[in-house]
Amino acid sequence: MKADIVTIFPDFFRGPLDYGITRRAQEMGLAKIEVHDLRGFTHDRHRTVDDRPFGGGEGMVLKPEPLFECLESMGVAARVDRLAGRVKQSVVLLSAQGQRFSQKVAAGLALLDRVVLLCGRYEGVDERVADFLADREISIGDYVLSGGEIAAAVIVEAMMRLLPGALGNEASAQQESFTVDVKAKSLNGADSTCGSNGLLDYPHYTRPAEFRGLAVPQALMSGNHEEIRKWRRQRALEKTLRNRPDLLKGAALSEEDQQYLAGIRRVGIEGQEI
Ligand code: SAM
Repeated sequence: MKADIVTIFPDFFRGPLDYGITRRAQEMGLAKIEVHDLRGFTHDRHRTVDDRPFGGGEGMVLKPEPLFECLESMGVAARVDRLAGRVKQSVVLLSAQGQRFSQKVAAGLALLDRVVLLCGRYEGVDERVADFLADREISIGDYVLSGGEIAAAVIVEAMMRLLPGALGNEASAQQESFTVDVKAKSLNGADSTCGSNGLLDYPHYTRPAEFRGLAVPQALMSGNHEEIRKWRRQRALEKTLRNRPDLLKGAALSEEDQQYLAGIRRVGIEGQEI
């Protein structure tokens, strides 16, 4: 997969995407990231990329011409073919007004051959870019950033770690928060320690077994796989109920999960408010 990032601050990306799994995915040849300097597509002495908004108002707006020219220079497939799904490419405008980014959106993007991310700045981007150049607008959350660069880095990292082979251990991706595993039915099977299935991840512990008087939960030290599975699943259910109850509606819950949830809804979790 190739990710192209269009920005007025290309140096921003020296670093954030050069670590961990994103770096490994590039080294393994699974992914390639190319950063394009928007100012390289201007034609004036000052390399102007912004202008005042028509109708008045605050701030400056990114001009459409450099963005259109930049995309045209990249050999991306025609918008009509992208939108019809005839090519596995997508052009994304980062925008606080976009559809909310999620693990599901990341998984969809990870299936594509090429994803172009257009980073806005200032008060935003001339709307003709959203209407006629990009295929979709994506927001990484309900808050306003100063530019699309951090959002682009978030999206690249989230999708690249889902590329087959990038993680090294594919099973770990299936058990992470927000992941809906297609093998939901094996939820309570011996091959599944917990399986996220739309819940938040269960808590993790490592050595030392006791640290400043804080002991690792006994169930995890038991060596009993069924006890460990049950403990993890229950903690994931509790955490999801406490922090993100909205996720429970879409989660794949077994009979056992539902009974456990009903129980903690009735009596609560010891010492904690739900
Ligand atoms: N005037 C815009 C609004 O109120 O929606 C905010 C513009 S923001 C200061 C400048 C740029 O940052 C945007 O064009 C977009 O590319 C990026 N940006 C800001 N918040 C974002 C978010 N939550 N997700 C993705 N990109 C964001």
